[in-house]
Amino acid sequence: MTGITDLCHPESVRVAAAHQAEAEKIAAELAAIARSGMVLPGSVTERRTRCGRSNCACHADPPRLHGPYWQWTRKVAAKTICRWLSADQHRDYAPWIDNDRRLRELLTRLEALGTAALEADPRWNRQPRHPARDAPHSPRTGEDHSI
Ligand SMILES: [Zn+2]
Repeated sequence: MTGITDLCHPESVRVAAAHQAEAEKIAAELAAIARSGMVLPGSVTERRTRCGRSNCACHADPPRLHGPYWQWTRKVAAKTICRWLSADQHRDYAPWIDNDRRLRELLTRLEALGTAALEADPRWNRQPRHPARDAPHSPRTGEDHSI
């Protein structure tokens, strides 16, 4: 943090040193993943199947199912989209999906830091609460109300 004091808002929020250190660790990992460019949404499921030929080994006892096949699944505009991957595509892209999951974990940790900072704000103790001001219909608090 810089030593600059905002004269209009002398008590504006400062990020605590531990918070800042944690944020920098998160930022470094986020940047490393982003720089790799290897980020893929969705998930991969392994599938083993039976075919329609009754004399095939997949219908034997015990059965030898076909596969494994890998199905990449993701949501696009609330619809689930599936696509079959070859074995080598699965091998190559599985780490990309892991990276995507890690990005989300890191963002969640950043958000938790911000939430903890707000919860720890000493002004909560000084100011009386104003329930009316926090009411969901109050104007211009606009969290989910885009234009
Ligand atoms: Zn078969």
